[in-house]
Formats: sequence, C-alpha cells, structure tokens
Amino acid sequence: MTDNQPQTIAGTFGATRPFIISGPCSAETENQMLTTAKLLAATGKVHALRAGIWKPRTRPGQFEGAGQEGLNWLAQAKNETGLPISTEVATAAHVEACLKAGVDILWIGARTTVNPFSVQEIADALKGVDIPVMVKNPVNPDIDLWIGALERVERAGIKRLAAIHRGFSSFEKGPFRNAPMWDLAIELKTRVPALELFCDPSHISGNRELIAMVAQKALDLDMSGLMIESHLNPDAAWSDAKQQVTPAALANIVDGLVVRTVTSADKKFKDTLGILREQIDHIDDEIMQKMANRMKISKQIGQYKKDNHVTILQVSRWEEIIQTRVALGKAMGLDEEFMKDLLRLIHHESIQVQTSVMNQSDVKV
Ligand code: PEP
Ligand code: MN
Repeated sequence: MTDNQPQTIAGTFGATRPFIISGPCSAETENQMLTTAKLLAATGKVHALRAGIWKPRTRPGQFEGAGQEGLNWLAQAKNETGLPISTEVATAAHVEACLKAGVDILWIGARTTVNPFSVQEIADALKGVDIPVMVKNPVNPDIDLWIGALERVERAGIKRLAAIHRGFSSFEKGPFRNAPMWDLAIELKTRVPALELFCDPSHISGNRELIAMVAQKALDLDMSGLMIESHLNPDAAWSDAKQQVTPAALANIVDGLVVRTVTSADKKFKDTLGILREQIDHIDDEIMQKMANRMKISKQIGQYKKDNHVTILQVSRWEEIIQTRVALGKAMGLDEEFMKDLLRLIHHESIQVQTSVMNQSDVKV
C-alpha cells in the first residue's frame, strides 16, 4: 500500500464527517432488526446500518448469526429506511450472498484480518466488483498484517477502501475490552494518509459507559467515522449485550460529540499556532543536543569501564536513575509511565553505545 496508494479513498463514504454506522451486533429476529433500524433512521443521526449476519463467536454453542434469513431482514431494513446497509464477511460465500442481497458496504472482521488465506479468499470473490470494503484491525497489534489485508482487497480492484480501528486483544485486562493502542491507529494514518480510518468504540469499550469517550478521542485523532452497535433492547441482546446502546442513546452520543477541524483558516489561530510550534521546534533541538551529549558521555564511561574491567550494567545505578528521574519528572507534572518508557529507551541506547565500545578492539599504534 505504500507504493500503491488507494485512489479514491477521500469522500468514499460521502462528505459527511463523522460518518455514522450503527445497528445491532447481530441481526437476531425480523422484529429486532427492523424496529432497531427504523428507530435509528428516525434519529436522523445515522448514515448507514450495520448488523452481523454470520457471527465469529469465541466459544461454540453461542448464537452464531441468523445467516441468510438475517440477510433478508437487513435488506428489508434498507428498503424501509432508505439507509445503506453493511455487514461482516468472512468467506467467499458470504461475499456472494451479500452481493445478491444488495448489501452496500462490506467489512472484514478482526478475527478474519489475522488470516491471509481468508482475506485472500474474500479479495478473490470481490474481483470485478465495485463496493466499499472496510477492514478491521487484526485482533493482535500487528500493523503490517492490517495493511497486508487492505492491500489484498485493494489488489482485487476495490477502490473504495477504509480501515476500522476496533482495538487489540490483550492478556492483561484493563478498562477496555480491546486495548485501543491509539499509537497503532496513528501509525496507520501516518503510513497511509489517503486511507479513511473509522473507529469502532463499541468493540474497544466492551461496555456502553466508555463509548462516548472513545468516540470523542477517535474524532480528535481525525478519524472519518464511527461504527457503534445499537439494539432496541441492549440488555437482551444475543451477542455483545453490555456494549450495545439504544437508538436514543446512540443519538445522544452523536449529539454530544465535538467535531473539530484539522486546521482553521483563522489568521490569529495560524499565527498563535506558528509561535507555539516554533517553541516546540526549539525545545526539540535542545532535547536532541542534550541526548547527543548524554550519549557521548555514556561512551566515555563505557571506555572507562572497559579500561578498568568493569561490567556495563550496574543494576543499582540503573535503579537509582529510575527512582530519582521519575520522582523529578512527577514533581514537574510528567506522567510516571511516560517517564519510565523514556528512561528505558535512553538506558537501552546507552547500553548499546557502551557495548559497541566494549566490542571495539583497542589497537594501539
Ligand atoms: C462485530 O462488529 O460485531 C464484530 C464481530 O467485530 P470484531 O470483528 O471487531 O470483533
Ligand atoms: Mn459485536
């Protein structure tokens, strides 16, 4: 994707920003699908409907989607609301069934993105078809795997392509069902700037309380749209009950979002931003200069340790550095985790510098 940028990404999903996709995690019954869709359409806040038809469940024996029957309900929801419809595809057969049913937008789920065989099968089924396709991030935090899946779809000739950030599964349990790891979304945007990036706050959050906050953060990172699960009776949902919201709550969430622009044409804004950025540039120069000096001294220490047959690593010194610097940083209002990460990086580089000194043969001439 780096050497072959997608062509018609901008505006794929219309000029509306944020583009809101909503609907149930799963289409369960005709009534649930149609009532939810109509309530959503009536809010006027939704630009496309979603519903899972084939559900990738973690454990067997759970509701695995309504299949073809559910697809008919989804198509009916499109007829009755006039809204475009979207669903997840995981196989070539799903793609064919969706094209037949008039599904407007397809997406590849997180559990499918991890598997190049499955993604390729979907891509092959899409050859010669003009339909928007969205690719969710893989469950594991691997940006190349995400880009690889996008590339497979793109090489099948799909021009309208978008990515969906839905968070990453992790062993450690935090407040989120799937850790957002925003850095990865930012990296995707940096590596493929023309690609539209959506956020799925529902699957990141795992519970409805966090959705608004995650959605706002996504917009503040300039994402193009949101996919948020909604259900006429969330607590009774057959999948992902805790993270679904009623259509009325969905409308509230959308209403509460602050949409900021990437830039402003206002002269005063530009001037002030320019001054602040100059200060940042200056501070960065200083940081680099200090870092270079620090490494120079580190190198001297390495040579001195070598001459005196002393090991590079002295754990007690390292512990002292962490303790004193973190305390200092905290006193200055810096985040503790940030300080630790920064010090770890600096220490790692220092060790590298000293290791290369140790490994140099001291040829005396
Ligand atoms: C879904 O959208 O309902 C879904 C299964 O999502 P994900 O692929 O992100 O887990
Ligand atoms: Mn779901």
